[in-house]
Amino acid sequence: MAIERTFSIIKPDATRRNLTGKINAKLEDAGLRIVAQKRIQMTRENAETFYAVHKERPFFGELVDFMISGPVVVQVLEGENAVLKNREVMGATNPADADEGTIRKEFAESIEANSVHGSDSQENAAIEIAYFFSGADIVG
Ligand code: ATP
Ligand code: MG
Repeated sequence: MAIERTFSIIKPDATRRNLTGKINAKLEDAGLRIVAQKRIQMTRENAETFYAVHKERPFFGELVDFMISGPVVVQVLEGENAVLKNREVMGATNPADADEGTIRKEFAESIEANSVHGSDSQENAAIEIAYFFSGADIVG
């Protein structure tokens, strides 16, 4: 299996409830290593660019408002099959559909305020990592 990197965000609903450590423990317990991490306040432009793929969806405006409603923690995670492994530990987009033990099952408030983002492909992981981090910020 290949060692990969993926991009993760701990979203404003989770930072507001002081859940950064609990979420990081779940990531680390799943075998993912946090090789870069910073707490930031996204600008509206950041959020619109990041979620541009959803700009035609009816929830786009609310999603952008939510993502800038408080600080987020952006992260680079590294491990075997990191993209898929992170998606597994995150759980389904809608917490009502998420498996037991997943981050979203345990912590998400709603389909929108669902505590974490994770890249959905290696290609998008590379794009998303490069948007928030320079190579020197990532220490494997
Ligand atoms: P993410 O991209 O944040 O990791 P995801 O890949 O599981 O989540 P997407 O379909 O890419 O889900 O949706 C991006 C985000 O948009 C979701 O995480 C959620 O915050 C929000 N979202 C998705 N569907 C809805 C919806 N029907 N209503 C409100 N918000 C939604
Ligand atoms: Mg997505």
